[in-house]
Amino acid sequence: MISERMKSAFLDQINKELYSKYLYLQMKAYFANLNLKGFVNWMDVQVQEENAHAMGMFDYVIERGGCVTLEAIDKPDNSWNSPLDVFKAVLAHEQFVTSKINELADVAQEEKDRAAMLFINWYIKEQVEEESNVGDILSQLELIGADKNGLFALDKELMSRTFVNPVIG
Ligand code: MG
Repeated sequence: MISERMKSAFLDQINKELYSKYLYLQMKAYFANLNLKGFVNWMDVQVQEENAHAMGMFDYVIERGGCVTLEAIDKPDNSWNSPLDVFKAVLAHEQFVTSKINELADVAQEEKDRAAMLFINWYIKEQVEEESNVGDILSQLELIGADKNGLFALDKELMSRTFVNPVIG
């Protein structure tokens, strides 16, 4: 059985993962309006990944005998001025999520919940990958600057990203 404190920390993180999904869905709409189909594809994969992150924790809380109560999801920002602007926001958001996952791990440690600690390890590793991937795209966008051809080349590259349903835990 999961402790009340551990459970509420997971529920809070489920909400953050669902907010991430919502944020990337809004970003997908931003790129769709610019007709940058590779960026749209990248955001679409991101949306599916965030959903998988949320569902992984959702299933885990239930598996541990906890009751899931969902909270409202915040309205995402929608005031970006450029693809660079969007990816700066993505990196800042993923850094925030990393800090939240670390807090979740702290709770597991304080609650001496070893099973939860093992489960959360997957998310800790996933965040390293998220920040690295997003950082790469952000660097490319910084190099590209106002070069339209560079932007179209990157758009084409981002078209190849595919969603692979992660095995969490
Ligand atoms: Mg996530």
